[in-house]
Amino acid sequence: MPIASLQIPVEIPPVDIWSYYLEQPKHYPGDKPLFVDCDTGRSHSFNDIKRLALEFGKGLRHVFNWQRGDVMGLFTPNNIDVPVVNFAIHWAGGIASPANPTYTPEDLAQQLKDSGAKALLTQKMFLQAARKAAALAGLPEDRILLMGDGRDETGVHRHWSDITAQGAKVQPQKANIDPRKDLAYLVYSSGTTGLPKGVMLSHQNIVAQAVQGEKQGDIKGLLWEVDAQLGVLPFFHIYGLVVVLATTIATGVKCVVLPKFDLEKACKLIQDHHITFMYVPPPIVLALGKHPVISKYDLSSLRWINSAAAPLSRELAVSVWDRLKIGVKQGYGLSETSPGVMIQLAEEWWKYQGSVGRLYPNMEAKIVDEDGKELGYDKSGELLLKGPNVFSGYWKRPELNKETFTEDGWYRTGDIFYCCPKGNFYITDRKKELIKYKGFQVPPAELEAKLIGRDDIADVCVIGVWDKEQHTEIPRAYVVLKPGVEETEAKATEITEWLNAKVAPSKKLRGGVRFIKEVPKSQAGKILRRVLRDQVKKEEEA
Ligand code: ATP
Ligand code: MG
Repeated sequence: MPIASLQIPVEIPPVDIWSYYLEQPKHYPGDKPLFVDCDTGRSHSFNDIKRLALEFGKGLRHVFNWQRGDVMGLFTPNNIDVPVVNFAIHWAGGIASPANPTYTPEDLAQQLKDSGAKALLTQKMFLQAARKAAALAGLPEDRILLMGDGRDETGVHRHWSDITAQGAKVQPQKANIDPRKDLAYLVYSSGTTGLPKGVMLSHQNIVAQAVQGEKQGDIKGLLWEVDAQLGVLPFFHIYGLVVVLATTIATGVKCVVLPKFDLEKACKLIQDHHITFMYVPPPIVLALGKHPVISKYDLSSLRWINSAAAPLSRELAVSVWDRLKIGVKQGYGLSETSPGVMIQLAEEWWKYQGSVGRLYPNMEAKIVDEDGKELGYDKSGELLLKGPNVFSGYWKRPELNKETFTEDGWYRTGDIFYCCPKGNFYITDRKKELIKYKGFQVPPAELEAKLIGRDDIADVCVIGVWDKEQHTEIPRAYVVLKPGVEETEAKATEITEWLNAKVAPSKKLRGGVRFIKEVPKSQAGKILRRVLRDQVKKEEEA
């Protein structure tokens, strides 16, 4: 029997994103600043967002003849205009497709081509890369629009607010959206395990996720008068795009928007703005637990932090509590599930350490073995999901879609999980990242979790390396030592032996320990094992 959510099912209104977020009465003042730029103090209130989005939406219809299903690419670091332009695109019936602002022109062109983008929104400082990408993708120059601060003196690339001015004078109608069928976002998965895939998310997926999120404890408990969050997660990634933006609009809490993560700046903003909660990926938790700069700031306003997107060890969560008395809870999600699937409540992280929490309402899960047979509690296998927030498939990838869903409609996550009888889920690792030592499976995240608990280790990444003699993969740890600790052979041996004494024989670090200066990570906070694997390969070939 599938595992059902323990939460009371919620009713999901059959409406589009615009109606859900912008047309319902709000319980907080409409002119209160919601999104605040951390550098300039420029802000948008709920009323600003609605007014500006309507004007730009009209501009899109009028100037570009924007139609239902037209795709708008977004290529920008975090900026307070992001919610405005997204709502405008949705009003006009369009699909927003955000791209990672660190992309090369070639990467961006790939996404523009794959998504069939009709126009691209970017910022002045990214114009050069955007123009190159547009040329490669065959997108005309005047379809590149600007957002944020800065204008284009040549007049070719119009600022969205100029299109607004024209839009305000005309009266096109809001698109007639079918919330179940029409896509709201075409997000690209992080590309951790291969090339990013276009994930189709409908208006109904996003509205469902909003209702699911609002019914689970932590968001419900937020007060617009006192709470404030730091908008540090990238808005091009589903976690920032949906969770951070939606939390602010639903609850009215202030979101201080940071264009790029900088630890010291983030600490200062937490202190100055009395930030009370944050959604973050594990590298930020790592910094809070280990980095010396943290001690220079007063972070006592922080009540809880939610970590998701990549594995977080319980040791690290405990170290943040010990150091700062801040509870680090976890959630689990994917681009394909809009994203939230499971979440821990703030007070539960302590009770169920290391868990990613319980299922969101209206969701069902199955944990299955290699043959697709359902497993009972406490047994590890692949997690399959069903729910109103689950995507309908990958964009233009029929073959992949066949593999991704079972015949009876379950989405295969590719993640290995077990669930305890109380309904708390635990993630072991990704199926694709398990190291295969002879017949045994070794989850690198488990070894990393242990290693990160050591005082001399600042960061670590474990990968499987090929052992020619034994003809198998063996685990090897790439370790970043804390400043002041010497990289010696004796240190490598000490760490290897220390870990080997703590794990099952199959999980021993047979590939030993190597030292590196930095673990390669994506902007969304994921360890890029494939980058490290490629580096190792190159070194071996050299
Ligand atoms: P791609 O599918 O392109 O390889 P990706 O899977 O990293 O990239 P996302 O949709 O951003 O793209 O990430 C979803 C994945 O992140 C999940 O499948 C899971 O492996 C990982 N993840 C999410 N939350 C957690 C968590 N709390 N702990 C461990 N891993 C997590
Ligand atoms: Mg994925």
